[in-house]
Amino acid sequence: MKVISVEGIVVSSTPFKENSKILNILTKENGIIGCISKGCKSLKSKLRLISENFAYGTFHLYYKENGLSTLIDGDIKNYLLNTKSDIVKVGYLTYLCELATNVYKESESEKIFPILESAITKIEEEFDPKIITNIVELQYLEYIGINLNLNECVKCGNTKVVTLSIDKGGYICANCRTNEPLIDEKVMKLLRLYYYVDISKISNLDIDDSVRNNINLIISEYYELYSGVVTKSKKFLKDLDL
Ligand SMILES: [Zn+2]
Repeated sequence: MKVISVEGIVVSSTPFKENSKILNILTKENGIIGCISKGCKSLKSKLRLISENFAYGTFHLYYKENGLSTLIDGDIKNYLLNTKSDIVKVGYLTYLCELATNVYKESESEKIFPILESAITKIEEEFDPKIITNIVELQYLEYIGINLNLNECVKCGNTKVVTLSIDKGGYICANCRTNEPLIDEKVMKLLRLYYYVDISKISNLDIDDSVRNNINLIISEYYELYSGVVTKSKKFLKDLDL
């Protein structure tokens, strides 16, 4: 066992014995680390806050590559107080952590954590959680094996495109379209933007409601039909229908 320090977020946890927890921490370089946090449920424990669900920061631990690591200490990077005081935002945070966990398990990619990290930071900074979540969903597609070409018609290369087909792998022009429903031009432009934007650099999200909701419907439908990454917490968001 060696001591390491990793940035990560507690994506889930289970109680262990009287006062402890087993944490699953999604990290960039070390994937999902299972680790025991001894005594963290005690009020005086220095591990208490860093062992809560969605604790986001640097974790110092005795690392075991194939087995349970042990948490030594941690530094919280952002308490996410805005997010945690809002039930809707907590719903998005829960969903994003579950989604990131599932996508990580499929891809084992180092890109999964930074995307999640930027997204939760933006939601904490009061950016629209639905838009941020849709951006993450679109950007995670390639890590679950759905590569999209959003630059031109995937069939013929025409740049005048009218819809998106996950089946065909991207944008489609009027000539190559078969039975896919047409998509509004504004929505088409934004889908491409969502796909390529660096979330950490977003400074303005001025998108009108109908376009925003339309995009959410399209992405949610594609996720249900094609991704195989189904999560419990998505249903909660759907029921809120915000
Ligand atoms: Zn075409």
